[in-house]
Amino acid sequence: MSVQVEGKSFLTHLECAACGRQLEADRVWNLCPDCGKPLLARYNLEAAAREGFRPEVLAQRPGNMWRYREVLPVREAQYVFTLGEGYTPLLPMPRLGQKFGLPGLLVKDESANPTNSFKARGLCAAVSRAVELGVKEFSIPSAGNAAGALSAYAARAGARAHVFMPRDVPEPFVRECRLLGAEVELVDGLITDCARKAARGVQEQGWFDVSTLKEPYRLEGKKTMGYELFEQLGRLPDVIIYPTGGGTGLVGMWKAFQEMEALGWCDGRRPRMVSVQAEGCAPIVEAFRQGQVHARPWENARTLAAGLRVPAAIGDFLILEALRQSQGEAVAVSDEAILDMTGWLAREFGLLVSPESAATLAALEQLRSRGWIAPQEQVVLFLTGGAYKYFPTLTLD
Ligand SMILES: *Cc1c(COP(=O)(O)O)cnc(C)c1O
Repeated sequence: MSVQVEGKSFLTHLECAACGRQLEADRVWNLCPDCGKPLLARYNLEAAAREGFRPEVLAQRPGNMWRYREVLPVREAQYVFTLGEGYTPLLPMPRLGQKFGLPGLLVKDESANPTNSFKARGLCAAVSRAVELGVKEFSIPSAGNAAGALSAYAARAGARAHVFMPRDVPEPFVRECRLLGAEVELVDGLITDCARKAARGVQEQGWFDVSTLKEPYRLEGKKTMGYELFEQLGRLPDVIIYPTGGGTGLVGMWKAFQEMEALGWCDGRRPRMVSVQAEGCAPIVEAFRQGQVHARPWENARTLAAGLRVPAAIGDFLILEALRQSQGEAVAVSDEAILDMTGWLAREFGLLVSPESAATLAALEQLRSRGWIAPQEQVVLFLTGGAYKYFPTLTLD
């Protein structure tokens, strides 16, 4: 039998990101019981480093995100329900970079994950850990990709999934979930309306809610993107451009950088973080520009980049904090630019990516023309998912 995981978890406790309350890690929690804000997983990083968790040991480990087992939450190997998520390609894009005067341009291709998006990382971690703690039924409100990933990992773990998606979600997302054995409910409205519907099942049926940042471990799965960047580059890049909905990946990578500093892997130099949103739903961009701590809910959210159609994010303050601490930026791009870039990336560069992913390129164009990025800088675009499930709504040819 091939070895799927090595090492052990150094998880110690959970800590509220807002009020700092500490909670016991070995039972299930959603939000902070005192203030209702997200909980963060904490590890004994000193012990992990002392006991040999160093970049050099990773070379021997399997090519999935569980190579970072010490800083992931699952205690017993039998509960790591992997489908091979993570350790995705970091591709040099010299010809694309040339068009923007950026020879060092890279893309992180997250479409290589199970179910075709980076949602696999978060939901693998959340489902694995929750099943370890006794959960048997899950629920999630989703624009599409999170629902597919939950369906896959619930099936993998022998658990049940109840998914709630907007009625206008492209059809392949629905078929994917049903094929994976999930119970699918389509809801009139946006992801926020789906969340209201899902909340009823959570209250009445006792399902475990794995909404973005409403339990601590999806963030842990997504943070592995930060570890991977460091491992694949041997350092951290200068700029990271990230399509932001609920912000788990951005907040997760920021947490990974902090952990790697505590582990003694890197110094305090971190990348400038850029959030990209669609012009039709840009609450984080607006709050960033206005210097606000929280974002105001966006009215009449509209964009074909479904994963960015998040009018209100519970982790808004964490996203904004990471952007500001990193001297980063927040950029809104039009749906026209997103569609153009989606087609261009496919035709000219062989990358068949989702609209959210292509939005990063539209943002790069803006930032370069404003001179916010210098030619010698190393920039990573996060291509968060593949195009296939969006085909019914993409008119590229
Ligand atoms: C969910 C999703 C996003 C947004 O991710 P967050 O971490 O929630 O901000 C971006 N792209 C794709 C393809 C998604 O599915």
